[in-house]
Amino acid sequence: MHYHIILTKECNLSCNYCGGGSDTPPKEIKYSIAELKSFLSRDSNPVVAFYGGEPLLRIETMKHIMDSIPARFVLQTNGLFLHRIEPQYLSKFHTILVSIDGTREVTDKERGNGVYEHAMHDVKLIRQRGFRGDLVARMTVTQGTDIYENVRHLLSTGYFDHVHWQLNFAMFWEGSENTEQELAEWISTYNSGISSLVDSWVDEMSRLNRVGGIVPFIGVMNSLLSGEKSRLRCGSGIDFFSVMPDGRISACPVSIDFDFSMIGSIYDSAARSLCNKATIGEPCVSCDIFHICGGRCLFVNRSQEMLRNNGFSHICSTVRHLVKKLQEALPQVQTLIENGSLGQSDLEYPEFNNGCEIIP
Ligand code: SF4
Ligand code: SF4
Repeated sequence: MHYHIILTKECNLSCNYCGGGSDTPPKEIKYSIAELKSFLSRDSNPVVAFYGGEPLLRIETMKHIMDSIPARFVLQTNGLFLHRIEPQYLSKFHTILVSIDGTREVTDKERGNGVYEHAMHDVKLIRQRGFRGDLVARMTVTQGTDIYENVRHLLSTGYFDHVHWQLNFAMFWEGSENTEQELAEWISTYNSGISSLVDSWVDEMSRLNRVGGIVPFIGVMNSLLSGEKSRLRCGSGIDFFSVMPDGRISACPVSIDFDFSMIGSIYDSAARSLCNKATIGEPCVSCDIFHICGGRCLFVNRSQEMLRNNGFSHICSTVRHLVKKLQEALPQVQTLIENGSLGQSDLEYPEFNNGCEIIP
């Protein structure tokens, strides 16, 4: 199973989406590494993902955990301190996810001046230092973002193996500054961008016989090809848990201040006993594409009272469009597999739940 370890709630940035981490105490880890090790020892194949706040603000604790606990390691970071990781620790990471929203202009607008330049500098540096693992650009997409341009930009840098994104929750939130009409207009533009992106993704597959690293497309297309039904794809509350600084366990790393998400603690819970304690409810479980969407997001599903009027249906319209476009592209992809241009395994990603969110 996959465990997000929140190393600190402190962050060195104050991005528009979250304002610099969570303020609820405690902000720093209160359990011992031995207690964490004891909890994780009950899982024979744990994936440990360092998360925050900004986890690299507590790099010594991170290294201590990596030295003490056998696991596959993942890091989710804003990228500004990647230069602090020594090569012997870099090589231990299977996946590093870097929060970056696209072009310099888009990233700096939401995350602060100079963030793009700094993060990209460090991304290049870890490649030069020999990091050969999966490097993932992790976008937050806010109203106004051109999805086509920004996803293509990140892939064109040549540094990232994969890109995934999440729609900024604030757009759909009750307190949003934008009117519903403005939101609906942007969603229409976003959906057009998704159509163009799917077309260019399939075109590239046909021309180059390779699958571009657009995680939502790979994950959904793989399900359409295999026919396998999906549950909540981020895995929150299923095989994915977050260890908070005080040792409590949250089903999702984002909803750590919400009661529904608190499902146990490292002191008294066996990992297996946590599964399915916090689950997706209506309207998702009765939805006709639940088997593909999986319910998108536990946090949003369980906090619908925080959404604006029609907020949930606006979110769903983006999921429905993405699924429809990929269903339309399915015959072309099947042909490429049948004629040997691609292997079905080229679409089997991620190899394990590495923190990529497949439904944006
Ligand atoms: S499309 Fe909407 S209602 Fe359907 S499963 Fe996904 S989030 Fe739930
Ligand atoms: S998709 Fe939603 S439930 Fe899953 S990790 Fe992200 S915020 Fe949490």
